[in-house]
Amino acid sequence: GSTIGIIGGGQLGRMLAMAAAKLGFRTVILEPQADCPAAQVANRQIVAPYDDTDALAELARSCNVITYEFENVPVEAALELAEKKPVYPPPIALEISQDRFREKAFLNDCDIATAPWYLVNDTRSLAAGLAAIGGPAILKTRRLGYDGKGQVRLKGDGSDDLAAALDAIGNTPAILEGFVAFEREVSVIAARDREGESQVYDIAENVHSNGILATSTVPAAITPATADMAREAAEKLMHALDYVGVMGLEFFVLADGSLLANEFAPRVHNSGHWTEAACAISQFEQHIRAIAGLPLGDPIRHSDCVMENLIGNDIARVPEILREPQAVLHLYGKAEARPGRKMGHVTKLKRKK
Ligand code: ATP
Ligand code: MG
Ligand code: MG
Repeated sequence: GSTIGIIGGGQLGRMLAMAAAKLGFRTVILEPQADCPAAQVANRQIVAPYDDTDALAELARSCNVITYEFENVPVEAALELAEKKPVYPPPIALEISQDRFREKAFLNDCDIATAPWYLVNDTRSLAAGLAAIGGPAILKTRRLGYDGKGQVRLKGDGSDDLAAALDAIGNTPAILEGFVAFEREVSVIAARDREGESQVYDIAENVHSNGILATSTVPAAITPATADMAREAAEKLMHALDYVGVMGLEFFVLADGSLLANEFAPRVHNSGHWTEAACAISQFEQHIRAIAGLPLGDPIRHSDCVMENLIGNDIARVPEILREPQAVLHLYGKAEARPGRKMGHVTKLKRKK
């Protein structure tokens, strides 16, 4: 059998390792934290920083193909690995998605519309951006933001303290984005194999709470035309990146049904967790199939569903969830339930309408 390397040992790495095992693969994870969710299911863990040269050499030696579960893998590490073994998704997808400036520019170059945005480095460019875009707007760090961290909202009516806003995001390079008065948020989970064939799951409607994904509901309350636009955007983006693997692409839906892309993740995505319960082939298996050179599975959905994240103390609801019919529970094996920490998720199935 063949061995799959996974950089990152969080819950996404854990679920990828489970899917890989189901298809008969061995997995080796590279993760500095010894007691991580993926360690409980992977065959082996290399406990080292993601950019450790010896660890990367060891990972390349022990695996036939390498993937990753988070978008902040150091690009240099991915490129180093790619000289020895195939790395999917391609490192260029990492490089673009880990910088919001490059990401927005790339989306726009693919003719995928986004909110208006402006590159910000200091109070002067922030003032210029606010003048260009108008308020309200959101200031976001270019790098390392997730779950809504590294973001500040601005009114744009002259009352904002621009220096304080830049302080609040650590005075790092940023972009200013127009605030989108969206009707709803949706995401598309798409896959592309090594031959360039693609498959797209049904679009999910996402609700965030305090910047963190709370629920994904399928089907989304959007028209077929809007759903087609989302699929087409994902396919265009994957083609432009010569992508291999699963990707998540997030959108804002406007009142007229048009879409603005927000960001993409070059990996399996939280808003695709429902696929493990409502589809024969989950996003995790789809990703493993894509990177391992296997044919993609049929992404058809057999049930309507709502996926709920279990965050922090939500874990206390597990006993009652276990008693609910048609509730598919998935826990990540994390010992400590800190506030804002993703502990698991539950997908509640309903008969398909
Ligand atoms: P993730 O955990 O999804 O990677 P993130 O920290 O990268 O999150 P975004 O996805 O950019 O951040 O933003 C988080 C949420 O904040 C969005 O899903 C949306 O609800 C809201 N948001 C972000 N940008 C905008 C915007 N321009 N207009 C309106 N709401 C926004
Ligand atoms: Mg993000
Ligand atoms: Mg997001």
